[in-house]
Amino acid sequence: MRYTKELSDLIEEFAKFPTIGPKSAQRMAFTLLRKSPEQVKKFIRIIDDAKTKIRYCQKCFNLTSQEICEICTSSSRDQKQICVVESVKDLIALERTHEYKGVYHVLGGIISPLDGICAEDLNIDELISRVQTHLQANEELELILAIGLSTEGEATMLYIKRLIEYLKIETGKCNITRLAHGLPVGADLDYADETTLAKALSARVLA
Ligand SMILES: [Zn+2]
Repeated sequence: MRYTKELSDLIEEFAKFPTIGPKSAQRMAFTLLRKSPEQVKKFIRIIDDAKTKIRYCQKCFNLTSQEICEICTSSSRDQKQICVVESVKDLIALERTHEYKGVYHVLGGIISPLDGICAEDLNIDELISRVQTHLQANEELELILAIGLSTEGEATMLYIKRLIEYLKIETGKCNITRLAHGLPVGADLDYADETTLAKALSARVLA
C-alpha cells in the first residue's frame, strides 16, 4: 500500500533535512498529522517568522532580526578585537565559553576548491574593508583567526593573513592571532567542549 500524495510529499520534504533518513521523516510526518490544526498553524507561523525575519548582520554576518546584530551594537564589546569564524555555529560555540568580549566576522564557509568554494564566495572582502576602516582611523586591532584545524581551514587562515599583510596602510596596526593548539583537528569548533575552547582562546598565539 502506498501513502496518499499529500503524505508522501510531506515525508519527502522532511527527508530533505540533514541527518533525517526515510524512517525519521516518516515519524515526523505522522507526528505532525497527530497535532491539532491550531498547533500546526503555530508551527507554520514560527517557520514563516524565522524565514522572513532572520537575516545576516550587515557588519559581521551573524544571524539577526535587526540590521546590525546585538553583538556588534553592544557597548560592552571591544570593536577592535575581531574574531573570524567559519559559521554562526562556531560563533555560538565561542559565545558559550563566556570568555570572549570582542566582536566577530562570519566567513560563511572556508576556501575549499574541491567543493567549488573559493575566496569570492566568502565574506572576505567585507572583512578586509572592516580591517581597513580601523587601520585608516589609526587604530590598533586584533584579528583572531578561529577557524577549524583542517587543511582547508589552514589554507583559509593563511589566505586572510596574506591579504592583511598586503594592505599598504601606513597608520594603525593589525595583530593577527590564532587559537592555541589542543583543539580536535579536522572538526568544527563547536565539537570542542567549552573549557577546551576557552583555553584555546585565552592562550592564543601570533599567526
Ligand atoms: Zn554583527
